[in-house]
Amino acid sequence: MSGFAFTLLARDGAARRGRLVTAHGTVETPAFMPVGTAASVKAMRPDDVAATGAEIILGNTYHLMLRPGAERIAALGGLNRFMNWPKPILTDSGGFQVMSLAKLRKIDERGVIFRSHLDGSAYELTPERAVEIQYLLGADITMVLDECTPFPAEEGDAERSMALSMHWAERCKKAYVSRPGHALFGIVQGSIYPALRQRSAAALRDIGFDGYAVGGLAVGEGQAAMFSVLDETVPALPLDRPRYLMGVGKPADIIGAVMRGIDLFDCVLPTRSGRTAQAFTRRGTVNLRNARHMDDPRPLDEGCACATCGQYTRAYLHHLVRAGEILASMLLTAHNLHYYADLMRDLRTAIETGTLGDVAVRIAAEHAAGDIPAR
Ligand SMILES: [Zn+2]
Repeated sequence: MSGFAFTLLARDGAARRGRLVTAHGTVETPAFMPVGTAASVKAMRPDDVAATGAEIILGNTYHLMLRPGAERIAALGGLNRFMNWPKPILTDSGGFQVMSLAKLRKIDERGVIFRSHLDGSAYELTPERAVEIQYLLGADITMVLDECTPFPAEEGDAERSMALSMHWAERCKKAYVSRPGHALFGIVQGSIYPALRQRSAAALRDIGFDGYAVGGLAVGEGQAAMFSVLDETVPALPLDRPRYLMGVGKPADIIGAVMRGIDLFDCVLPTRSGRTAQAFTRRGTVNLRNARHMDDPRPLDEGCACATCGQYTRAYLHHLVRAGEILASMLLTAHNLHYYADLMRDLRTAIETGTLGDVAVRIAAEHAAGDIPAR
C-alpha cells in the first residue's frame, strides 16, 4: 500500500476512533467533510471553513472537469493551491453528478458519454479518465468511478449495475498512480440487497483498496433501510481501513452510522441549509425565516462557540434572511459547519471514553426537546 496511513486509536462497540494521515495533513475520525463543489465551499472562505473545525473537504470531479477543467487546475498547481485550501481533499469520481445533472447520458462497459449541463458539449468519463482527473486535481483521496444504482431498483438491475461498478473499480485500481500520502477508495454498491452488498464488498477486498466507501445510499431509501444496509455491509469490510458513507447526512444518520463503524461522511446539508435559512442546533433544526425570531435577542444556539453565535442575535439573522443579504448565507453556513464539526468531536470523545451509547441518547433527547421560543 501507499504512505497513506490509518490508525485505529479506540473502539466503542462497532464505532471507531481513528486518525488518517495524508499528504496534506491529519484527519481525526469519525470526520465530516464539507462539500466544496466547484473549488469553493459555498459562502465560505477556506480560512473560515478551517475555523469551523473541518480538517478535510470534498471536491466534485464532474463540476471541476467541466469548469475550469482538470488540466487547467493542474497547470495552476493543483486544487489545493487553486482554491487556497492547504488541508486534505477527497474528490468524488464524477459518476454521481453525471447521473443526476448531465444530459444525454450513455452508459456502457467502457464508461459514460454525456453532455455538459452547462453548455451541451460532449464528454467521455471512463474509469481511467476519472482517476486521471483526480490525479490532475491532486486529490489526497481518489474515489473509483462507479454507477450509483438508482433507487428503487429490481434485484437483477441492481446486480448488473453493481457488477459494472466492480469492473470499473478494477480498472481504476490499474490506472491509479500510487504515491505517498494519497489513497484510492473502492465503493460498495448493491442497492438494498444484502447478498449483492456482500458480493460487492468481497470483490473490492480482492482488488485491494486503501479505504472503502458505501455508495448508493441517501437516495430515498430511508434511515431504517440505510442502517440495515450498513449492518450487512460494514462487517464485510477490512477492519484496518477507513470507511466512508457517501452523501450522508442528517445528524441522526451520522450518529447511527458512526455506531455501525463508519469513519467518514460528506453531505451538502449544512452548507445548502445555510443558504436557505435552515440552521442545525443542539435543539434540532431552526428556520431563521420564521417570524418568531424577529424580536429574539438570543444567539442562534446557546451551546455553540462559533463566531455567528458569539456575535449576532437571532433577530439580526432573521433580518438578514428576510432582506436577502449575502451575509445571512455566510453566517448560517459558518454556524452549520461548526455544528457538524462539534458533533463529530463529541462523537470522537464519546468513543474514546466508551460513552457513545449515552451520548447518542443525550443528543437525540436534546433534538427531540426542540427549540425553546423566546419568552
Ligand atoms: Zn454557532
